Amino acid sequence: MTDPRVILHVDMDAFYASVEQRDRPELRGQPVIVGGTSNRGVVAAASYEVRKFGVRSAMPIREAMRRCPHAICVKPRMSVYRDVSHDVFAIFHEYTPVVEGLSLDEAFLDVTASLALKGDAVSIARGIKQKILEETRLTASVGVAPNKLVAKIGSDLNKPDGLTVVDAANMRATLDPLSVRRLPGLGRKLGERVEAAGLTTFAQLRTAPDSLLWPIFGRDSQRMRDRASGIDDRPVMSEWDEKSISAEETFFTDLGDAARMESEVMRLADRAGSRMRAQNLATGCVQVKIRRADFTTFTRQKRFEPSTTDSRTIARVAVELLRSWLEEQPRARVRLLGVGVNHLHAADQMDLFASPAAATANPSATALDAAVDQIRERFGTLALRRGSALPEARGADETGEDLSEKAPSRAGERAAMRAGRPTDKGGGKPGSTSRRAGS
Ligand SMILES: [Mg+2]
Repeated sequence: MTDPRVILHVDMDAFYASVEQRDRPELRGQPVIVGGTSNRGVVAAASYEVRKFGVRSAMPIREAMRRCPHAICVKPRMSVYRDVSHDVFAIFHEYTPVVEGLSLDEAFLDVTASLALKGDAVSIARGIKQKILEETRLTASVGVAPNKLVAKIGSDLNKPDGLTVVDAANMRATLDPLSVRRLPGLGRKLGERVEAAGLTTFAQLRTAPDSLLWPIFGRDSQRMRDRASGIDDRPVMSEWDEKSISAEETFFTDLGDAARMESEVMRLADRAGSRMRAQNLATGCVQVKIRRADFTTFTRQKRFEPSTTDSRTIARVAVELLRSWLEEQPRARVRLLGVGVNHLHAADQMDLFASPAAATANPSATALDAAVDQIRERFGTLALRRGSALPEARGADETGEDLSEKAPSRAGERAAMRAGRPTDKGGGKPGSTSRRAGS
């Protein structure tokens, strides 16, 4: 058994709305909605004063104004929020390099390795809150727990300006009475079904029999019981940690079409694969990064054996991850996609006989990858794409790669490959500049 981890989930309180109230004293204490000033937009953020009327973010403005007719609508100032976000993330990085940003105002921090240097978990959490307040004059709520799931639930329990510590000793007592609606990722529809089955609390979900859970969750039934018990072993992943190789792209126009997203993911997988082979490495884990139009960022990863050097395997796993994410978020619009490979090791150390699949590793796939890499090396990354990633395979009315904000120059791309630089990004700490790259 390894030592228990200490994970923080830090979440700024009503972030955009709080920034507006900070900068415009006349808005303090008022019901403030940040969002499109026309009736057609949605609520980007709601101050605590307006939440009392049932206004929530992502609600249509029209509906919000119906619930609270005297609400004050304020136009978002994204560049200001990004600057504040940058300062807040810089504070996170003073405490640990393992920071996984979820959006401009929310992140997981793994501080396990920082405990010796920075004090116990509670002092770290207090220190972060204090520094954020001093430097930004804004409050954050923090959940401290042995894993991401419980940290995230915890940060939401005592908002605003909250600090909730959940450990093995008080885990059950904290989670059991909570409404199942507080379980991250459950979603409104599933939440309704779970409640209709008579399961309204974590305790009920944790102890529910298969006869109740299977019709709703099928093979995931045990996983749902685990989550209701506060079990979660997902690692905190800094955006593309230093040990990973990745390629990512921010799009001029948000993507809404699944086929287009898949073809972009295949192209990025191809690019990440090329970079990996340029360093003579093989991977046993593929990661995708998806940033929605509202800047919320998701990462999904999958480990597999045996490890591979084959771009098509990387692409296949990446597309699988994208598809399962799209099942959860069928109407999502996406502004950034990325594919990364980690758990890297020297390609010549691959255990070719680890499994029958590896023993018969497809020689033509290897030869194709080698040919692709050679052409790229000489002519740059835009010179060649696989058939599946060709523009014709995309939505006819979508813009092509050359319009995206971050299409790197060919020279830059080759230089990056020669230098063995791991990603598209212009440098800087993971989670700092990169998080802002979409701006
Ligand atoms: Mg927040």
